[in-house]
Amino acid sequence: ELRAWHTALRAQFPIIAGNPELAYLDSAATAQKPRAVLDAVHTYLTTTNANAGRGSYTWANQTTELVRDTRRRVKEFLRDPAPERSDVHFTSGATEGLRTVARDWLTGFLSDGDEIVVPFADHQANIAPWLEARDLLARRGVRVAVRPMPYQPDSHDYEPGALREVVGERTRFVAVTHVHHVYGGDMNVHRIRRAVGPHIPICLDAAQSVGHLPVSMAELDVDFAVFSGHKALALPGSGAVWARNARGPRFTPGGWDGTPNTSGIAGLRAALDWLDAAGTGRIERWTTALAARLTEGLRQLAPYEVLGCQRSLAAGSDVQQRRGIVSFRHRGIDSGDLGFVLFSEGFMVRSDSHCQGSAGERQNSVRVSLHVYNAPEEIDRLLRVLATLE
Ligand code: PMP
Repeated sequence: ELRAWHTALRAQFPIIAGNPELAYLDSAATAQKPRAVLDAVHTYLTTTNANAGRGSYTWANQTTELVRDTRRRVKEFLRDPAPERSDVHFTSGATEGLRTVARDWLTGFLSDGDEIVVPFADHQANIAPWLEARDLLARRGVRVAVRPMPYQPDSHDYEPGALREVVGERTRFVAVTHVHHVYGGDMNVHRIRRAVGPHIPICLDAAQSVGHLPVSMAELDVDFAVFSGHKALALPGSGAVWARNARGPRFTPGGWDGTPNTSGIAGLRAALDWLDAAGTGRIERWTTALAARLTEGLRQLAPYEVLGCQRSLAAGSDVQQRRGIVSFRHRGIDSGDLGFVLFSEGFMVRSDSHCQGSAGERQNSVRVSLHVYNAPEEIDRLLRVLATLE
């Protein structure tokens, strides 16, 4: 049943359907776009393109309404339990989203002597903005201490028990990631809220989860969620920040502060509609199964080492599950060379240190990242090629 569902959906991606000899395995960098998204952007630009929030003619009003409606749609997609209190700000992607939270909100929220917790083994986009906020405040004479988020080194999972030791009276902010962009682990963010208590603001980097699995603000209990439209099947240069309390200090995310990326917003709305119709739960089952197929296959091949998520096959709510991302190393072949060899066989993978924070340099690896259009045959073909490399 899932197989027929996948076949019908795969056919809707022109770049995938048009290149059957290639396998795109780099969706964590950016995802391919279904025809519905391309059509929505084309329709917008050829029928009602105008600036938003200005003008009193039909196209301008329709564009203003498009932006408003997409804000509503983002809240709905994120299962926002109180949409009347929250707000959505459109950005060019997750990096700009995290910067926006840091610059427009965090710097106004912190005082001298406050502490923040930063996940130093996650994506640099979820590290640099918080350090920049600290440095900006330092120049104004406001000292903020940065505490590292504790990790379990074997599984690259957060360690909520140790986080309880890190969080103190002066902790005012915690940054976390939903799904890790190198190891693919679901970081079980609900444990973070339990560890830090009900009052400390949490910002979630959902770049690798929105569009890949059901993401619910009602369940995660975070204060900000940031995602990338382009990793969620929408256009490059689109993304959003969701803020639980729009009236928080100095954060005015819904403001009309310049010309928004209206065609990107049209594409984002179409992508969210497409994802809901496809079913994010089914997408999650599909890509998780493909990742497990690859992980299992690699474990049978002696030269390869799979990184992170050592406990991914066990069941249970607090055990880390691997989503559609698998990173691995060949014990004798450099990852750059391996990436090159794989491309000569038609596989597009990522091979470097993956924009990771502290552990990046040491974790040079090949990353395979999947989306709804990837097929089990691609994984099997990849494993056959990998098996030929001693
Ligand atoms: N956070 C994570 C976890 C990511 O994987 C990425 C993209 N690789 C980003 C942030 C940055 O996203 P964007 O490209 O939309 O700025």
